[in-house]
Amino acid sequence: MVTGGGGFLGSHLCERLLNDGCDVLCVENFYSGTRDNVVHLMNNPHFELMRHDVTFPLYVEVDEIYNLACPASPIHYQRDPVQTTKTSVHGAINMLGLAKRTGARILQASTSEVYGDPEVHPQREDYWGHVNPIGIRSCYDEGKRCAETLFFDYYRQHQLEIKVVRIFNTYGPRMHPNDGRVVSNFIVQALRGEDITIYGDGSQTRSFCYVDDLIEGFVRMMATPSDVTGPFNMGNPVEFTIKELAEAVLKSIGGKSTLIFKPLPQDDPKQRQPDITMAREKLGWEPKVKLQDGLERTVAYFRNFLAL
Ligand code: NAD
Ligand code: UDP
Ligand code: UDP
Repeated sequence: MVTGGGGFLGSHLCERLLNDGCDVLCVENFYSGTRDNVVHLMNNPHFELMRHDVTFPLYVEVDEIYNLACPASPIHYQRDPVQTTKTSVHGAINMLGLAKRTGARILQASTSEVYGDPEVHPQREDYWGHVNPIGIRSCYDEGKRCAETLFFDYYRQHQLEIKVVRIFNTYGPRMHPNDGRVVSNFIVQALRGEDITIYGDGSQTRSFCYVDDLIEGFVRMMATPSDVTGPFNMGNPVEFTIKELAEAVLKSIGGKSTLIFKPLPQDDPKQRQPDITMAREKLGWEPKVKLQDGLERTVAYFRNFLAL
């Protein structure tokens, strides 16, 4: 079962699991995902799509749960911040309750946002973070932190088989073109010949992981023995400034876009880079796709999607 299976990462995961020979139940309320992301899977008899909101209980029989349901981009998660916290917290309780009843393994899609605006760099899993509990990003950050707490309490109290992955900025085909995330924004702007909007002076950093690399990490994580719980960071440790990303997108697309500078949103983290030593050692996993190659594939998707 993949919750949030109609979203960007979820749809790639459903596809991968079907290719691996699994029966896949995709649970999705279409808050930020779309049917288009999974429409090509609908004719597969091993794929089932269920419209359901994970903040409500769900009684189904499954043996593995990937819990990805939660809007991931600031524009989407800030549109209805109360629902965002409910999705992370009530959603986690329901999915953990389901895992407890069925004995299923359960993987949580957590996030680098649990580190907030980090004072330790690069971020290691033993860093507790620097998170504003009352800001505009808090519904997401604190919701995901509470979900991790619930996962570890169900592990200690009910001996559930949990797997927690902290995802760092991941990009690729099927990102929502209007969800405001930086890679999709820059690509769409460059393809349309519009100005590229850099927030702040563009010196803040992120590390960008191509979607296929991340999905490989998820599948490896789910297959680990029961004493391996994480949390493990998953992301690409190669760090870029946002200005460098804009230049890489321009290099890939060409065109006449220019860089323009806009105000930096509140609580925007200044730097982010995963330390992936744990995932390397325990899963033998590391990203393989270089930024320029991943950008080419993503640009090809958006060119076709936008018919440009
Ligand atoms: P996304 O918005 O494309 O996917 C999330 C999916 O969850 C959407 O299809 C949405 O409709 C669904 N959803 C939201 N609330 C739901 C609810 N209450 N019940 C059922 N479904 C619901 O985002 P994504 O990038 O694919 O992210 C997937 C997961 O990975 C999220 O949990 C996100 O927090 C996490 N994550 C992603 C990134 C990234 O860079 N892409 C980074 C860190 C964490
Ligand atoms: N739950 C669910 N599906 C199940 C089992 C439980 O959605 O198959 C939900 C149920 O609504 C409950 C939550 O998961 O509120 C937590 O379940 P748990 O068994 O941990 O707690 P309890 O039922 O004692 O509240
Ligand atoms: N950003 C930007 N221009 C945009 C969209 C985002 O400069 O059009 C910046 C944003 O301020 C942040 C970084 O890019 O510093 C990554 O933003 P995103 O929303 O993709 O992810 P997150 O902040 O959650 O890492």
